[in-house]
Amino acid sequence: MEPRTQNHNPDVIEALMEYLPAGVVIVDQQRRVLLANKAITQLTRLPKSGFYLDELTRLFDGQVDFGAELDKILAHAVSPVVILRDIVFGKYFYSAHCFQIFDEHSNPAGGAILFQDITREKEIDLERSEFISIASHQLRTPLGSMRWNLEMLEEHIRALPEQAQKRFYEAYKSNRRAIWLVSDLLDVARIEQGTAESEPQPTDLPALIHTVVQEMASEAEIKSLSVRTIVPDNIDKVVIDPVQFRDVIENLLLNAIKYTKAGGSITIALVKTDTGIQGSVADTGIGIPEKDQQKIFTKFFRSKNAARVHTESSGLGLFITKSYVEKWGGRLWFESKEGEGTTFYFTIPAQ
Ligand code: ADP
Repeated sequence: MEPRTQNHNPDVIEALMEYLPAGVVIVDQQRRVLLANKAITQLTRLPKSGFYLDELTRLFDGQVDFGAELDKILAHAVSPVVILRDIVFGKYFYSAHCFQIFDEHSNPAGGAILFQDITREKEIDLERSEFISIASHQLRTPLGSMRWNLEMLEEHIRALPEQAQKRFYEAYKSNRRAIWLVSDLLDVARIEQGTAESEPQPTDLPALIHTVVQEMASEAEIKSLSVRTIVPDNIDKVVIDPVQFRDVIENLLLNAIKYTKAGGSITIALVKTDTGIQGSVADTGIGIPEKDQQKIFTKFFRSKNAARVHTESSGLGLFITKSYVEKWGGRLWFESKEGEGTTFYFTIPAQ
């Protein structure tokens, strides 16, 4: 077996592989290791060749089944490269690129895995979220005090001229926005630091949904949006963190309200399925442009069409929502057509 580089001097290739700071493992079609470079043998204490990929899977505590990942690529069920992130080995973090290799006749000859040490990257990420967390905590107190003082002033505000009243409400609105942003930033920092605790308890989901819909009714009314709720009464209580479930519904409903033009409609539904419960929030709004759909769960990402209709948003809501849904073992996804509407779906596995 030779990788496609056959025309090149094999000594050079071998020396390159040996001293590459990234780990490289090359296997034949039977998942037997033909070559593990220095970075890998030093890390794992495995020999340079002759062992099977299962050995590597075992050393990485089964976090990843390397053989199965290579099988996926060989079957072409997924893209030609599978990228796995955040694989832990001792105190180090790795990402692994798994790809197929070919012989000199372009026939499949096996696979290769490239391990990259991303420990420093992870440390920087953690330092950044710690900084955000500290800054947000520091901001919370003065913003809260500002809000309290503004609310105290509100009863006297009617005595002021109309222009001054307008300014007062602008200040109040800005303060609320800043409080929401800081609270989102704190949630993101907790998620990234792995300190977002959940406290699951038996929760009446339909009741919680009705409460959120009621709380947001005035926002929907301002835009003449009709909000319909289709939730069966025969759903037993579900053991879930009620605060996180509420956040998920609030984020999805608030987005539907923000990104649906006046006169549109929103439907929140909950159904029992064979595998648990599926919820959905559908709107007849502006939709998500196809080119943006891949990026929609990325922190701070906002589509241009959304930023045009609603200038002040953080782009953090869906990142937080996805992380909560995945934490309770569910999945979050959407279907959307620009100009026609969007439906977000989430699942809660059966308990
Ligand atoms: P934001 O605070 O900007 O709403 P999110 O993370 O909740 O942040 O959403 C990210 C982006 O996803 C939005 O800015 C918008 O571009 C898009 N989006 C989310 N929900 C909808 C929706 N219901 N309809 C259209 N676009 C949406």
